Amino acid sequence: MPGIKAVLMDLDGTLFLGESIIPGAPESLMRIRELGLSITFLTNNSFYSRRMILDKLVDAGIESRLEDIVNSGFAASEYLKERRGSCRVFTVGDVGLVEEIVLGGHILVARGDEADAVVAGGTKDISYWRLVEGHRAIMNGALFLATNKDHVYMTEKGPMPGAGAIVSFLETSTRRKAILVGKPERYIADLALRKLSLSPREVVVVGDNEEVDMALAEAIGSQGILVLTGISKNPSSNKWLVAKTPLEIPKRLSTLI
Ligand SMILES: [Mg+2]
Repeated sequence: MPGIKAVLMDLDGTLFLGESIIPGAPESLMRIRELGLSITFLTNNSFYSRRMILDKLVDAGIESRLEDIVNSGFAASEYLKERRGSCRVFTVGDVGLVEEIVLGGHILVARGDEADAVVAGGTKDISYWRLVEGHRAIMNGALFLATNKDHVYMTEKGPMPGAGAIVSFLETSTRRKAILVGKPERYIADLALRKLSLSPREVVVVGDNEEVDMALAEAIGSQGILVLTGISKNPSSNKWLVAKTPLEIPKRLSTLI
């Protein structure tokens, strides 16, 4: 299929397992670029800011720029800015999320009753009382955003509870549904496509999670390549191409361009 210009590339489970780069991943990215395709890193990971992700990529020997990275914390910050302007935000998330919220021009608040919006994402440092403040803010009418609802994310120690588990806590206690800005919702992909000035037919979505990455490809009408080094081990559909390892991604891509 002619006209493919870029790849929307997932990180966790696709290029990295936790802090470790998956063997062959840097070589794979080099070959993808040799095919003449640009790479935008599109990740639901909100633990990190884009700057922290850039450091991680560069440390792993992957050339990249800040503008090539779109993560769910950044997407949440942009979503708020576009729809509500500068907001007073209570975060239930990690330092990378806090950084993106501040960079978006929002004001962080420490108490739920001061918040216009609650942004919930993945965090390794959660307390019941932080969740209580988030709960109170949502019950007071604050906008409730989720960076992602992934039930798990893949690390070198296996799957770990994802942001979805934290979002579920607040959805259960408040009986409100969080607005999802990350994959498989199209908001985060549209953000990347706008930066690239490309349409969904001109990109290929690559990732390790059928419910997240391939569901996004389907939602926006892009082709998808499922990589089997992360969460999904047995593809349930033949709608997408399959790469057993990152090194197989360029081979699959070359059949599409
Ligand atoms: Mg992934």
